[in-house]
Amino acid sequence: MGFLSIMGNSFGCSASGERLVSAARDGDLQEAKALLEYNPRLARYSTFGVRNSPLHYSAAQGHHEIVSLLIESGVDINLRNISGQTALMQACQYGHWEVVQTLMLFKANIHRTDYLNGGTALHLAALNGHTRCVRLLLTDYVPSIPEFWNMMRGKSTHESSIPDFDKSSLSKLVNQKADGGITALHMAALNGHAETMHLLLDLGASVSQVTVEDGSTIDLIGAGSSPLHYASCGGSAVCCEVLIARGASLDAENSNGWTPLMVARSWHRNWLEGILSNQPDHRVKILPSPYMSLPLMSIMRIAREFGWRSTIQSPACIDPCVVCLERRCTVAAEGCNHEFCTRCALYLCSTNSTSTILSLPPGSIPCPLCRHAIVSFAKIPGMSPMRELPRTSLSLSLCATCPAADGSDSTTPMATQLCKPDFHCTRIPPLGSSSFCMGVPETSSCLMRCSRSLRRSASQGEGRGRSCLFALSHIADSS
Ligand SMILES: [Zn+2]
Ligand SMILES: [Zn+2]
Repeated sequence: MGFLSIMGNSFGCSASGERLVSAARDGDLQEAKALLEYNPRLARYSTFGVRNSPLHYSAAQGHHEIVSLLIESGVDINLRNISGQTALMQACQYGHWEVVQTLMLFKANIHRTDYLNGGTALHLAALNGHTRCVRLLLTDYVPSIPEFWNMMRGKSTHESSIPDFDKSSLSKLVNQKADGGITALHMAALNGHAETMHLLLDLGASVSQVTVEDGSTIDLIGAGSSPLHYASCGGSAVCCEVLIARGASLDAENSNGWTPLMVARSWHRNWLEGILSNQPDHRVKILPSPYMSLPLMSIMRIAREFGWRSTIQSPACIDPCVVCLERRCTVAAEGCNHEFCTRCALYLCSTNSTSTILSLPPGSIPCPLCRHAIVSFAKIPGMSPMRELPRTSLSLSLCATCPAADGSDSTTPMATQLCKPDFHCTRIPPLGSSSFCMGVPETSSCLMRCSRSLRRSASQGEGRGRSCLFALSHIADSS
């Protein structure tokens, strides 16, 4: 009898665990909540074999509200699956920036490396060209100060006096090597993700870092290769031009004695011949990356300290946040002092990608109300620290109040501008494209389902999910 009841419990728990996995995968928030209320320990369930937890599934599918719920239910945010991947890595692989934002708000560890290739979340975001994810990952390393751009280029004298900025830590992080000495820049260059490369270069990625022969990787380009060798193999002219403009050498030879031009020839990239043959007479001036976001660190800190999900509606007598028109203003843009709620400011800093006008500090974000260049946000004086409230309105999102959400013509251009990036469909990574990392193997049917679902969460894939090895096999086929 005792034995049977133990078995019964264990089966029951396993069944509930599988139900939670399904809910996390399908984005069924109500079911996930009900299951966790019934048994909070289910949050720590992991599937047999691949050891993916519900957190992995919800992160890989972009269900950021469930990610939030699971973390609050006590699951270890840095939990690994059998490949050593964390939820953060999976969100970065599939480009779910809202999940990345949520995980960063809860201070997920960005330094963890997987067991397959020694890659970090940054490598996976760069590999797949998810520039928004790259920006969010580096939140805590890019200070909300106007001199940042000059400091990165060694043109500022203030460096020692900035407490939030450690240039060498940022450089170390951006240039971290996976197995074979491959950096995030190599991966973005090989796969033709020029926007991602642009941001990485602005944040200190080195164009002269070369790969190594460590016996752990099948290297078809050769050890000792620079990002330009990789871009030459990948065949993206824009990537080659950006790297050359940032000082990459055309004469650098890898350990096979190949220059980037020779690599391009061996992969039949004839169109690169002109670009890689002669060093340009003058260096092309490249504008700062539109994905740099200086105010992100300041708003992230405020959100971590004072909360970001408050559902307190603004009393009728107080002006609500002009973006969502319902929550109380909690932060003010420094400079113009326009006020917003923390969540709208977070979205603004995470989604904005407009090129800064040259006269403004690079990386500043135009205020939606007056176009003033916002470099940081400050908490509104007098606001007491918010306690996180019971999660009664989890599905509330910025776009719920946007007039464009129902397809009708927008009468508030500013809100539309903020919401627009969230309406793109989540791109579905090609099946079998996760050869760089295991990913979540059994999620494909759900991906299909989610792509059809109208109530999909607003996460956005920013590019094609294509792995290094996938790219290489494609290259090999065509040559
Ligand atoms: Zn708001
Ligand atoms: Zn303003």
